Amino acid sequence: MNRIICTSTLLLLLALAGCLAAAPLPEAASTAPAATPMLVLSPTSPPATATPSATPMPSATATPAPTEIPSPTLLPQPVHLLRSYPIDGDSDVLPGAPLRLVFNQPMDPDPAALGLSVSPELSLTAEWPAPNTLALHTGPRRPGTEYRLTLQRARGQSGGMLEQPLAFTFGEGGRGAPIPILMYHHVDDFGPSAPAGVGEWASRPGEFVAQLDLLAGLSAHVVRLIETVDYLTEGAPLPARPAVITFDDGNKPTLQYAVPVLQERGLPATFFVPPQYAESGNDKFFNWEDLKALAAAGFDLGGHSYQHSFVQDLTPAEAEHQIGDEKRKIEELTGAQVECFAYPFGSYSDKTVQQLQHYGYRAALTVEQRIYQKPGDIFHLGRIRMGYGDPIDKLRSKLPWSE
Ligand SMILES: [Zn+2]
Repeated sequence: MNRIICTSTLLLLLALAGCLAAAPLPEAASTAPAATPMLVLSPTSPPATATPSATPMPSATATPAPTEIPSPTLLPQPVHLLRSYPIDGDSDVLPGAPLRLVFNQPMDPDPAALGLSVSPELSLTAEWPAPNTLALHTGPRRPGTEYRLTLQRARGQSGGMLEQPLAFTFGEGGRGAPIPILMYHHVDDFGPSAPAGVGEWASRPGEFVAQLDLLAGLSAHVVRLIETVDYLTEGAPLPARPAVITFDDGNKPTLQYAVPVLQERGLPATFFVPPQYAESGNDKFFNWEDLKALAAAGFDLGGHSYQHSFVQDLTPAEAEHQIGDEKRKIEELTGAQVECFAYPFGSYSDKTVQQLQHYGYRAALTVEQRIYQKPGDIFHLGRIRMGYGDPIDKLRSKLPWSE
């Protein structure tokens, strides 16, 4: 009884946790990876000390008076949530993983500054692993139960308050987290209709832009694929409405039609490339210089087998080449860290998964049409395919946030 508390006594524990709050941990930095552009959510408030003073300098002729030195004005900055674990609607949260709320500023750990509850009731213990991060350890969560976390108020150390109450639902054992992973192959202008066999894997340049516009209009936050992997495997927080952009095969026209658009908007993406394509001399595909430039620009590279092969039944020697050599070569020649794989032709087996794990892969993508991602599916993640000439409403209907 003395170890289990109800939410109504959470405030007391928050007080204790606030007093015991540790020094900032590296977690604070890890919540804002350099390559992620979703900082649109988190305009950094200027430090109070940087506020320009409008006070005129005292005139040299003025009678010097022993005036008090004015203290810097601490402008209250509105509080909002940058990231959370889980995200709203995740019905397959990692058992035992703490809930995490990452705010845009150091927070006031005073329990009176928080109004937090979970329904149905869960025992909660709170800590502040970083000044802007609240971690909530809960008692056992019942699989199949939908919980609702509500944050009515929160106060930052600047004195600013939460802009609007937050509420999100989560559970365990359900269909997963709504994280759409968009799958592109070609972004190219093929004229009125794409060549046979390409149409369902291609978007026109204008369609690609419209698709990104749709994500922005729905307040989605495009995150790196590896951030999604960290979320699913480690309970690392993500921004609200996360989405992922991927390209298979390394088709050269994406350099012209997709990469500049992504860079203008500061959006991350992962390119899955077979090394054989890069060294073939075929100018339809990225070469090593292209791949090096993409990696240097902050894009992620992933494995797609050395020769774009069927990988569902590789012998150990074949796996050594198709998966091992492939990963090593991309990493050596581009400096990228290759941790995710996309199954060529969507084909895989349990054996493939074991082989990927053997060579150090952490996740893999299928061509299965799903937007809900589960920790247990980390080597079977689903994607959304766009087709040439598809109306924008087709994508809208597949996204989880359409009103
Ligand atoms: Zn492919």
